[in-house]
Amino acid sequence: MQGLIATGLAQLGLTGRVPDNASTLLARYGHALLEQNQVMNLTAITQPQDVATLHMLDCAPLLDCGLPSGGSLIDVGTGAGFPGMVLKLLVPSLSVTLLDSLQKRLDWLAGLADDWGLSGLRVYHGRAEEAGQSPTLREQFDCATARAVADLRLLSELCLPLVKVGGRFLAMKGMDCQAELDAARPAIAALGGAVAQIRDYSIPHTAITHRVIVVDKLQPTPAPYPRRWAKLRKHPL
Ligand code: SAM
Repeated sequence: MQGLIATGLAQLGLTGRVPDNASTLLARYGHALLEQNQVMNLTAITQPQDVATLHMLDCAPLLDCGLPSGGSLIDVGTGAGFPGMVLKLLVPSLSVTLLDSLQKRLDWLAGLADDWGLSGLRVYHGRAEEAGQSPTLREQFDCATARAVADLRLLSELCLPLVKVGGRFLAMKGMDCQAELDAARPAIAALGGAVAQIRDYSIPHTAITHRVIVVDKLQPTPAPYPRRWAKLRKHPL
């Protein structure tokens, strides 16, 4: 796994911009994921080479897709830590919060961070729409990320309230997201954001291309947002 990750990081042009031991750290994370996956449902991906490509090398390109090089980041719906844990290992100066509504996966991630002596990483158990109304989390982050969590219209309401004015939200999507993006533009504007860039990247060692929607937070999110899940799902912005 480590060799694939190392050559993949090199192909992405990240060698020298990430810690020298980045591929070792990501491989250690990948092996821990596969081991824990035997006893807890963490991922449907079970082959080491697929963990290297479809998890680690899928998330790494965010470094070139508008990720700030420091400051604070919240990964909404992190699951087993994607992309938030990968980004923390690649950019140790980031202060990363991994948010999910499922406690078990967060406990596992917190245990890894403890075992590895990772500072600047915390887990937050709760729903994103409730976190977005909490004074300690609302508009506190330089960046929010999300992969495979919800349709962009709903996802924007979950993520943008957590981002400071001047910060950004990075939504990881497939290449077929044009209609989803078009439908989400009014919601993004209503939440204080604007689509700044659309960045496509190829995952090394695969024929897969993915897309990052980069949303800048230009204005504060109006107080009523995010709404409760039932409401925002039934009446998306
Ligand atoms: N981001 C990870 C990845 O790409 O592997 C996990 C994706 S998984 C399909 C979706 C995750 O989002 C689940 O862990 C789920 O618990 C979490 N989730 C969905 N809606 C959420 C919400 N409103 N608040 C917090 N977590 C949420």
